Amino acid sequence: MKIEKNKVVTLEFEMYNGEGQLLDSSADGPIEYLHGGYDNILPKVEKALEGKNIGEEVDVLMDPSEAFGEYDEELIEQEEITSFPENLEIGMFFEAENQETGHIELFRVTGIVDNLVTCDYNHEFAGNTIRFKAKVLEVREAQKVEIEHGHVHSHGHHH
Ligand SMILES: [Zn+2]
Repeated sequence: MKIEKNKVVTLEFEMYNGEGQLLDSSADGPIEYLHGGYDNILPKVEKALEGKNIGEEVDVLMDPSEAFGEYDEELIEQEEITSFPENLEIGMFFEAENQETGHIELFRVTGIVDNLVTCDYNHEFAGNTIRFKAKVLEVREAQKVEIEHGHVHSHGHHH
């Protein structure tokens, strides 16, 4: 069975930055995604996987704009330390509601100076050239409900 729209694909992968540092991998277990433009995986990786069979591999190089975005200085904000828990440390992730859009956004604490906390809303890997290497482990038909929801239902994901 080859990869095409509405197939669930299981991959093992390794993701590197432009300097060849490993950023993420499937060392803790393979990933699954629903193929076919559901925004479940980086678009350029999805395109490279189109038509591939079990056992085949892809090796995709992406500019920041094709991966996790350019680094944007304007996505850095300062907040009073009083709005954070006492065990605050650099590198912690928090969620905040965007007052304009109402969306929940993830940010990372990148600095603590006096009573001000630097909050970086850029993606953790923004600004990086990304190399994504993957091997196809499994391809199956998606269930109807998975196609309706636009994502894979497994590993206890039910709702
Ligand atoms: Zn669902």
